[in-house]
Amino acid sequence: MTSRIYLDNSATTPLDPRVRVAMEPFLGAAFGNPSSLHREGKKAREAVDTARAQVASLMGASPSEVIFTGSGTEADNLAVLGSCVKNEPAHIITTVLEHAAILETCRFLKTRGAKIDYLPVDSKGIVEPENLRKILRPETRLVSVMTASNIIGTIQPVESLAKITKEHGSLFHTDAVQACGKIPINVSTTPFDLVSLSAHKLHGPKGIGALYIRDGVHLDPIVFGGGQERGLRSATENVAGIVGFGVAAELAQKELAAEAARLREFRQQILHDPRLDSCGTFLIGHAENRLPGHLCLGFHGLEHEMLKLSLLLDEEGVAVSTGSACSSNHSGSTFNILSEMGFDEARSQGLLRVTLGRFTTAEDVARFIHILSAAVAKLRRRHYATNSGFASSVVSGKSQGA
Ligand code: PLP
Repeated sequence: MTSRIYLDNSATTPLDPRVRVAMEPFLGAAFGNPSSLHREGKKAREAVDTARAQVASLMGASPSEVIFTGSGTEADNLAVLGSCVKNEPAHIITTVLEHAAILETCRFLKTRGAKIDYLPVDSKGIVEPENLRKILRPETRLVSVMTASNIIGTIQPVESLAKITKEHGSLFHTDAVQACGKIPINVSTTPFDLVSLSAHKLHGPKGIGALYIRDGVHLDPIVFGGGQERGLRSATENVAGIVGFGVAAELAQKELAAEAARLREFRQQILHDPRLDSCGTFLIGHAENRLPGHLCLGFHGLEHEMLKLSLLLDEEGVAVSTGSACSSNHSGSTFNILSEMGFDEARSQGLLRVTLGRFTTAEDVARFIHILSAAVAKLRRRHYATNSGFASSVVSGKSQGA
């Protein structure tokens, strides 16, 4: 039996076996509570401190600037709520490309009187920094723009956006859940105040995240209790998860350059394969300015068929992700994102997200191209049978994204 091809690494990544080995003692004999003063407790505390230094190092931060959270979602919530709850009615600037963890938190604050403005994006999904200057207000408390989009894969000019925000005197947060460990992020040279991370996107365990909080930036807690994590995230620490996050961060940092080059090469191989080009495939988002292993694909005329395509691929042993109109109009939906990028209603209906990772092999890539082009051809034949004359006109045009 041939093995499955997992190309949904933006949804989650498999745990690296080296991370699993590091975590195992903390799921067994090393079960202590880091707040306890006995040896078991001290061992757990040391492990948490080591992991904090490893996660900090991945971003060029000091360990004291890193707070562990229960997820990337919680890190985003803490960044937005923690900076705005006591500053109501706050003015927040963000984008419609953000993850629901940001958009829904902003929506909640709006019910409490906050004013939310959304920066426009261009046809590649990128924010123009000068537009930020136009909508900053004296009462702007926070600007939150993701480093790279989970759906489109494009990288935002967060460095320029952070500089403009800081000149104005507001706080700048970036959700780097998709970007961290894949592209360099350095808070010692970039004026980010707050950065969200999540371990399971970089071959670490699920259910553990972190928030970088620049020294001197004040946040209010959103979880109350025993005062762990500098009082910002009360709860007994998830020691095994934190240890796993630390090792995953260290591995990502060591392997970042080589891995980015390898995945970029695979990405280009898929994108420029003549079999995909000739079946009406086009790239959504920026061609170069994107995460190394991230492809967001559209198929001319098949926008309504993305769910069918992903199910066909699943049957053939390939796991990818789809954004389809079924999920339209909720925050962070594919439909909203593509509409914002200027796609018309018909073309905003769907996309296929193909995300490569550490365990993607050259053989996976070759098999994937073959399986995808066959699946698209099959869908087009079905379409042709029902909408006679349609497919040939679509396929004849050279690929061109919006
Ligand atoms: N932010 C972005 C950009 C994401 O892609 C995700 C997860 O997909 C999250 C936040 C949420 O992270 P978590 O799954 O750890 O809650």
